Formats: sequence, structure tokens, C-alpha cells
Amino acid sequence: MSLLITGSIALDSVKTPVEEHQDLLGGSASYASLAASFFTPVNLVGIVGSDFPQQYLELYRSRGINLDGLEVAAGKTFRWAGEYEWDLNKRRTISVALNVFETFHPTLPAHYTNAGYVFLANISPQLQLHVLSQVKAPRFIVADTMDLWIEIAREPLLELLRRIDCLVLNESEAREFTKETSLIKAGRKILGWGPKYVVIKKGEHGSLLFAEDLFFSAPAYPLEDIHDPTGAGDCFAGALTGYLASVDKITPESLRKAVVHGSVVASYCVEAFSLKRLEQITPSEIAARYQIFKKMSHFEVG
Ligand code: AMP
Repeated sequence: MSLLITGSIALDSVKTPVEEHQDLLGGSASYASLAASFFTPVNLVGIVGSDFPQQYLELYRSRGINLDGLEVAAGKTFRWAGEYEWDLNKRRTISVALNVFETFHPTLPAHYTNAGYVFLANISPQLQLHVLSQVKAPRFIVADTMDLWIEIAREPLLELLRRIDCLVLNESEAREFTKETSLIKAGRKILGWGPKYVVIKKGEHGSLLFAEDLFFSAPAYPLEDIHDPTGAGDCFAGALTGYLASVDKITPESLRKAVVHGSVVASYCVEAFSLKRLEQITPSEIAARYQIFKKMSHFEVG
């Protein structure tokens, strides 16, 4: 079942205490699309400027990502720069320039409007709603967001929540959004605002899945070498939605497996800068790490 993904496509500059790189391929939709492409065909909706390197378009194509919904406009690509502390959970945004995204108001190619599954990766909730409004009969809609939209676009974000099936957000965002210190209370409160499912990401501490009659806690893969955490959340949600689209059923079991597949792909993402590790991995590496997750979470024999 095909999956429509929209979100940011960026040129990122990322600095960690040990390394610094400029003009990397980034953006929530780039990470999510590559992650999802391991599971299902992806139709990408986004915009880049005339400065966007051809090699990055080739990378999407090499993963079979459909670019009919990608606009190449006169002007500059979205840019983001961030810096990590020694504690890689702590990140500071140095600069953001929306550039061509400022006036992006896409009309979906006709064949995109039949999408069964939709992932609205992090971008303004107004743009997420605009894209979603053009999809005729989606079976399952997942959305991601960030602190910026919680602060400056709360109303459109609440409207989005009434139209989606699953919200994915990180723990600090869940606390800020709900004004709750307990993540359990935060998850339950967001369920009350519309979506049937909420996933709270806790970085190296795993993730929590909430539904009215379901609670699941998944660990994160115990990695020793993290080079760049950028995009881990986008890969998590992209792989989660891609897995659901591939099995085309929403059950407590498929949702649990989707969360674990999300964790597996996110764990590969952070092993190198940008999408460099995801460019190399194979489905068998994903399957191998999935089995490790299975063993890691079993505590009773028989
Ligand atoms: P994550 O590490 O999952 O928060 O995602 C990092 C990616 O989000 C980077 O590649 C950025 O280009 C992108 N990004 C940063 N700020 C924004 C924003 N305001 N809207 C959309 N994408 C953004």
C-alpha cells in the first residue's frame, strides 16, 4: 500500500563536539521517506530550491521514492543549523531559514490523492492540513510535530489532531503541549484531543505507545557509537508508518511491531551524519536488529 509523505526537505549544518558538516541532506520528509522506503513505496510532497544538489535527488530515486510531488522552485532550499552538546540529547538550533517553504502551497498530483497511508512529517500544521485535505480516503494518518508549532500554532495543531489517527512527538514536546510532568498523563490527555494513538519518543530511553485500550513500552537499541542524532525521530515515525502501510492492517500487534521497526531504523540513522547510514543498510540488517529487539524485550521463558 503506497504512502504519502510530506514535511521539510533541508540542507542542514550540524555540529557535534567532535565533528561538523555543512549542506547535508536533511529535513523531516527526507529522513522519513528514506526510512519508510524500506517497507513500502513512497510518494513525496515537498519543495526544494534551485541550489538543491542533483545527487540528493538521485538518492531519493535510488530508494524508489516517487518525486512527482516534489517542486523545484527558483530560490533557496530550506536551511537548518544545529549544535549538540556532549550530552547528545541536548541540541540548540542555531538558525532556520524557511526560504522556498515560505510560500509553498502544493496541489497534489492526481495519483497521490488516492494514498492509503499518510505521514505528515514535521512542518507547520497549516501545511500538514492543506496536504491532508487533498487525500480522498486515507486509511491511516500519522503526524509528527515540534515545540515551535506547539508554541506558535497551537490552534491549527489541535485542529490537525482531530483529523489524524496517530500523533508522534518527543517527551519534552508532550510535556510542553499538555503541561503535564507525567508522560502517562500527557499521553492520555493527547488521546482526549482526537487521535486514537499517541507515540511518545524518549530518545535513548525508547518510546511509549498509547491507545484507549493499549499501552506498550519499547526500548531503544543500546548503541555505543552515536555520531549524529539528527533525524532519528523522523526515521522512527517514517519507518513506523511505512511498516503499517506494508502490512495494511491496524491491530495492537501490528502497532507494536511498527514501533519496534521505527526504533530499529532510527538506531541505524544515528550511526552516521545525515542519511549516510540509511543509504547503506539492507533489509536483512533491519531484520537482524529487529530480532535483537525481540530477544532484548523477552524476560520469561515458555
Ligand atoms: P529531528 O532530529 O527528528 O528533530 O529532525 C531534524 C530535522 O528537522 C533536520 O533535518 C531539520 O532540517 C528539520 N527541521 C528543523 N527545524 C524545522 C522546522 N521548523 N520545520 C520543519 N523541519 C525542521
